[in-house]
Amino acid sequence: MSLYALYEEGETPDRARLNDALAGNLCRCTGYGPIVEAGLRMTEARVPVDADALQERVDALKSLKRHETLKLSHKDRLTGNEKVYFAPVNLEGLADISLAYPDATYLAGGTDVGLWVTKQHRELAQIIYVGDVEDMKHIDITDRSVEIGAGVSYTDAVEVLARHYPDMGELIRRIGSVQIRNSGTIGGNIANGSPIGDSMPALIAAGATVTLRMGALERTMPLEDYFIDYGKQDRQPGEFVARVSVPLPNENLHYRAYKISKRFDQDISAVCACFAFEVNKGKIEEARIAYGGMAATPKRAAAAERALVGEAFDADRIEQAVAALAEDFSPISDMRASADYRMAVAQNLLRKAFIEMSGEADIRLVGEREAAHA
Ligand SMILES: Cc1cc2nc3c(=O)[nH]c(=O)nc-3n(C[C@H](O)[C@H](O)[C@H](O)COP(=O)(O)OP(=O)(O)OC[C@H]3O[C@@H](n4cnc5c(N)ncnc54)[C@H](O)[C@@H]3O)c2cc1C
Repeated sequence: MSLYALYEEGETPDRARLNDALAGNLCRCTGYGPIVEAGLRMTEARVPVDADALQERVDALKSLKRHETLKLSHKDRLTGNEKVYFAPVNLEGLADISLAYPDATYLAGGTDVGLWVTKQHRELAQIIYVGDVEDMKHIDITDRSVEIGAGVSYTDAVEVLARHYPDMGELIRRIGSVQIRNSGTIGGNIANGSPIGDSMPALIAAGATVTLRMGALERTMPLEDYFIDYGKQDRQPGEFVARVSVPLPNENLHYRAYKISKRFDQDISAVCACFAFEVNKGKIEEARIAYGGMAATPKRAAAAERALVGEAFDADRIEQAVAALAEDFSPISDMRASADYRMAVAQNLLRKAFIEMSGEADIRLVGEREAAHA
């Protein structure tokens, strides 16, 4: 199916594109080599498309689009409990239903929520689907920021973000697989608040803010403030994540983002580290450092940042910030990585970011990605 979806995109893929499309597929019998070879040659056997029939199908699908809130309800025959499902189509509808059902579970791409049901067998009695809310699917670019609606998928967001923050783009391209990035949303990643979610450190380092809405009222906060503790976010019942705003970088900003996981593709981070340093005439004017996998929430490294701001952008200063990371974090050991490993990686990534930013070595994540696939 992954190859077929790629085939339908029409282009003859190169090896990197093919690997990306196949990421997450495990093969038990054919072996990866022949699958890749077939993928590289599949467009040679292209069947001509009947454009009229295709258009007819597209029109038929478009005509299914609803213009008002869908409500479905169902009484569980065993328990007698009622289950409800709403799919509003605009922000006002979403806000109203959220107030009426403040304890409902929001459903966006379902790449987290789906697993609660299939793996944890949780019963979700009230669901509000946000994926049909058109107003939350916009990306607006102003002269100062990129505004991304909470319902925008990674696939749709990545291009715009990568244009301004290439490393962020590369990080997002390593979230899950094509299927996950087509369904999963940045809003869902934020709302879920996992300490190892990948988009948060990248967005926090970039200085992003998140806007929540309850009824007609909105409030906006720095993204890092949204995460209070493990599994606890600053969101009230009936309130939902509406959008995230990412400031555009200025010319003095150096930005790097790294994801360290056991496998390159389709794996959960052991540590995610993102750095944004504004350097003017050799002096660090602003430093934003954010890590995932190092604490109970995605978190900024306040002590390390303090060690840098107002100081020279040189290796000695960076070493002081590296030492300060031990004040910022006491990571845990789990099946993904030991505490010592996490700390060593977090420190080394700060050194790596400095080496890359200061031009002492020409290593970029993009190059590494290609090397990993070679
Ligand atoms: C195979 C696989 C691979 C994955 N790989 C990665 C990875 O590499 N990196 C990573 O970070 N994550 C990964 N994930 C996790 C998941 O894809 C992300 O967290 C994704 O961003 C969730 O978005 P969603 O739209 O699917 O959210 P959903 O599953 O629909 O919802 C997630 C949470 O957010 C809430 N929510 C959703 N939208 C809103 C809203 N607007 N307002 C308030 N609450 C809301 C939901 O109630 C739920 O609590 C992976 C998941 C799978 C299944």
